[in-house]
Amino acid sequence: MIIQKTENSRISAFDPENFSFGNTFIDHMVICEYEDGKWGDVKIVPYGPLLFTPAMMGVNYGQACFEGMKAYKDKDGQVFLFRPEKNFERINKSAKRLAMPEVTEEMFLGGLKALVDIDREWIPQGEGMSLYIRPLIFATEEALKARVSNKYMFAIVATPAKSYYTEPVSVKISDHYSRAASGGVGSAKAAGNYAASFYPTQLAIEEGYEQIIWTDDATHEYFEESGTMNVFVRINDTIFTPPTSEKILDGVTRDSFIQLAGKRGIEVKVEPIKVKDVIEAQKNGTLKEVWGVGTAVVTTVFQALGYQGEKLELPRLSAEESYAELLKNDLVDLQTNHAEDPFGWRVQVDHVMESV
Ligand SMILES: *Cc1c(COP(=O)(O)O)cnc(C)c1O
Repeated sequence: MIIQKTENSRISAFDPENFSFGNTFIDHMVICEYEDGKWGDVKIVPYGPLLFTPAMMGVNYGQACFEGMKAYKDKDGQVFLFRPEKNFERINKSAKRLAMPEVTEEMFLGGLKALVDIDREWIPQGEGMSLYIRPLIFATEEALKARVSNKYMFAIVATPAKSYYTEPVSVKISDHYSRAASGGVGSAKAAGNYAASFYPTQLAIEEGYEQIIWTDDATHEYFEESGTMNVFVRINDTIFTPPTSEKILDGVTRDSFIQLAGKRGIEVKVEPIKVKDVIEAQKNGTLKEVWGVGTAVVTTVFQALGYQGEKLELPRLSAEESYAELLKNDLVDLQTNHAEDPFGWRVQVDHVMESV
C-alpha cells in the first residue's frame, strides 16, 4: 500500500457538532486503478478531485457500483467496523453482475482499515454518530464504444455522519413503477438503480409521500423494498420480510435484524409479503408496524401507506411497544460497543498508522 499523507489536514476546521453529512469529506481517500487486466497499487492519497473526460465509459454506459458502510467510535475512542466482510462480498457480487473486475481483500478490507485508521480523528463520537464510508468501482476507459471497459477505478471516500433519528414517513405502495426486474440488476448495488428510482420517487413526493414501497415488476402484488432500504412488516407479533432474490438487495441491516429478532425470541418469517394481506391487516387492526432498514439511517418507521389513492394510517406505537425501535437499539448498541457481540460482527480497527 502506498500512503501519501496530506500536508493540509482540514481536521482543525471540522466541527463534530456542526457539519453537513455527505458534503464533508475526511482528509484522505483510497484509490486503485485497473488496467491491462490487473489492479495496480492500493494508494491512500489526500481527498480531492481527479481528472476524467466526459468520454469516460462509466458515465456513458453506467458500469458503476458502490457500497455503504460505517465506522463507529466508542466512548474510549476505539474504532469499529460492522460486518465489513459482507460489504466486501457484496461489492464483488455487484462487480460481477456489471461485468467489472472483482476487487481483492487487500484493496477492500486493507484499504478500508488503513483509511479509517489514518483518519480516525474524523469519526465523531457520541450517540448516533459515525463515519459513513463509500467504497465504489467505476469504468474509466476513454472510449465511446458500448462494450465492457478495460479500465476501472476502485475508490473509498468517507463522510462523517450524525444521529439518524428520522420522523415517521408516509410511503406509497407502487402499482406501476419498479425498482428491479427479473433477470435485472436489482440485487447489485448498481449506481443506475438509484438513477432509475428518482423519477418515480419524485412523483410520489408530489402526491404527498416521502418514499416508495417497491413491488414486483410482474404483478405489483408483492412487497420488495422500500426506497433504498429492505422492508419489514409486523402483523400481530410476527415480523415478515421478503426473501432476497435477484430483485431484492441482500442488506446487511436486514440480515442483522433477522438474527437480532431471533435472539430476542421474536417470530420472524422470511416469506413473500402480499400487498393485499398488508392492506387487509391494516383494515382489521392486526397491522402493527411497517419499516425500512439500511446502513444509512438504520430504521425508517412508516406512519401511513398509500395504495391506489387511499391513505392507510398505521398505529403510533411507543418506543417500548415497537419492534422496529427495539431491534434498532439492539443493533446500534452492538455496533457502537455498548453491548456484547455474541455474533462476532464488530471488527476493531487497530491503531497502527500515525495520525496526521
Ligand atoms: C444498500 C441498500 C440496502 C441496504 O443494505 P444495507 O447493507 O443494510 O445497508 C437495501 N436496499 C437497497 C436497494 C440498497 O441499495
